[in-house]
Amino acid sequence: MSMNDIRMALRQGGEAFLDLLFPEDGLCVHCHGESATEQGLCPACAQHLFPSAPPKCERCGRPLKNEGPLCGACQKSLPPFAGAAAPFLYRGLAGEMVREMKYHEKKRYANFLGDAMARCLQALEGPRPDVLVPVPLHRSRMRERGYNQAQWLAARVSLHCGAPVLPNALTRVRETDKQTRLETRAREKNVHDAFAVRKSRAVRGKCVWLIDDVLTTGATARNCARALLAGGAAQVWVLTATTVAWRPETGRLEDWEEA
Ligand SMILES: [Zn+2]
Ligand SMILES: [Zn+2]
Repeated sequence: MSMNDIRMALRQGGEAFLDLLFPEDGLCVHCHGESATEQGLCPACAQHLFPSAPPKCERCGRPLKNEGPLCGACQKSLPPFAGAAAPFLYRGLAGEMVREMKYHEKKRYANFLGDAMARCLQALEGPRPDVLVPVPLHRSRMRERGYNQAQWLAARVSLHCGAPVLPNALTRVRETDKQTRLETRAREKNVHDAFAVRKSRAVRGKCVWLIDDVLTTGATARNCARALLAGGAAQVWVLTATTVAWRPETGRLEDWEEA
């Protein structure tokens, strides 16, 4: 392919650009088997994905069992972000990819998930991002782990949509307990005021898309959005690789630990 073809493809917009990026070697990103589809997975692995399908909550984008417009969590208290989207449920293969990426440094999954997030963003009617802000890790956890998976995802989304990543726009002002062990209310308290905007000039007046691996209770996203809005962002939207569903029968979020 010549440079001209590439330029032409870029001009034609996202889809063509996505086709350029995948498949990188024609192998399945998960099992390394042959016959990967253009999205990077072989048909057998693709069966273990659970797309986040409508009907969805108009605000947080979580799939609902019945028509919305809002899930129980948003009815109880509207989040400060304008909207949220995710390509997959935090179950099956996508859940496994998130954990592998987060705890075992499997960057190839960040590429796969980031591509899916970019497609999701493209299909949305929401405003285009001016900047992408990954949810930061606390400095000590960043030191220990050496990378931030949300930053990997943001970099991949940025490749497609062209909006720059601002990895240092937000900072974690205090270390929070490991979220997975806490109940919803404890989580909300745990992350309250845990984030602050470090460079308000970079987000002032901007349409900011917050990037993370999973939207569970939404406590982290709410607190990041609050900090970004306080820092002058015009609006905040949330794009995650995975999300959990709202279960009306229990009035709770799907148990992400079970996924
Ligand atoms: Zn496969
Ligand atoms: Zn909702």
